[in-house]
Amino acid sequence: MSESKTHKVTLIPGDGIGPEVTQSVVRILEATGAKFEWERFAAGAEAFEIHGEYIPAALYESIERNRLALKGPVTTPIGGGFKSINVTLRKKFDLFANLRPIRNLPGLDTKYPGVDLVIVRENTEGEYVGLEHEVVPGVVESIKVITEKGSTRIARFAFEYARKHGRKKIMKLSDGLFLRCARQVAEEFPEVTYGEHLIDNTCMQLVMNPFQYDTLLLENLYGDIVSDLCAGLVGGLGLAPGANLGVNCAIFEAVHGSAPDIAGKDVANPTALLQSAILMLRYLDETAAADKVQKALETVYGERRSLTRDVGGTAGTTQFTEAVLAAMG
Ligand code: ATP
Repeated sequence: MSESKTHKVTLIPGDGIGPEVTQSVVRILEATGAKFEWERFAAGAEAFEIHGEYIPAALYESIERNRLALKGPVTTPIGGGFKSINVTLRKKFDLFANLRPIRNLPGLDTKYPGVDLVIVRENTEGEYVGLEHEVVPGVVESIKVITEKGSTRIARFAFEYARKHGRKKIMKLSDGLFLRCARQVAEEFPEVTYGEHLIDNTCMQLVMNPFQYDTLLLENLYGDIVSDLCAGLVGGLGLAPGANLGVNCAIFEAVHGSAPDIAGKDVANPTALLQSAILMLRYLDETAAADKVQKALETVYGERRSLTRDVGGTAGTTQFTEAVLAAMG
């Protein structure tokens, strides 16, 4: 893709801290030299008030056209009988792979310096299929669905990612059919070491020694839980980026939710969404722009002068954003 191309991106600021962190990230992306045309949409409660729908038809159409979105957190209305908006979007566009790199930023005093993990989470199946019903009053049955097709394609994604990025080791966390499919795919990738760990043991191992892992391949729910755990290893939820990837469509979003406790106060850390945007730039082959933002982010963290509260600083969202912009020159 040429550096001068204008990228059309569906932008979903979301709610809670979403609009603040999205505004910050858009300002920074606009300063990279890469060109963007943003198609901005509300989703969730805000969209419901305006359009009477949690996910407006025009938003679906925009993603359908652009095959690319940058998304802030969107809270799912509780008790409305509506499936999670995040899950709905991932399913609708068959974004079966959730990629979550976990690395330290400089300047942060974390318990584990030098962590370099990649979480590959299956994104469409497991408990998230939303099949739940009340068998008799007081007894709810929830169905976890694992398919051969879904398990094989996520395993293949993980191995191909490992091969492309020179990662050496995949640890598969789970059981049953998912495990069998991963074993089969592993045979096609002899250069990648493959191993299996049980989920409960892995949580303990990650806390004792995260350096023994490289790439983690997980079912949907396990992936969600382990992602938060791993975000904690490198400084918390304000930092961890994510990409939802399908065959020909991608939605980039942070691991964290809408954090209503700190919304609207100019204190949220935009780093997680910014690092998701760096993943987006790399996906678009905007390598120079991605490197520029990455370097500026590392400079700001290394200097420690303009960090947000969640990572031990005193700066607000705006001050942090301006520091990154200044570091980009
Ligand atoms: P969800 O269930 O929607 O995924 P969650 O349970 O993971 O959400 P979050 O809303 O992501 O919860 O956040 C948990 C807490 O972490 C928040 O209350 C907030 O204090 C902190 N937090 C999350 N994201 C950020 C951020 N970007 N900057 C600063 N603090 C954050």
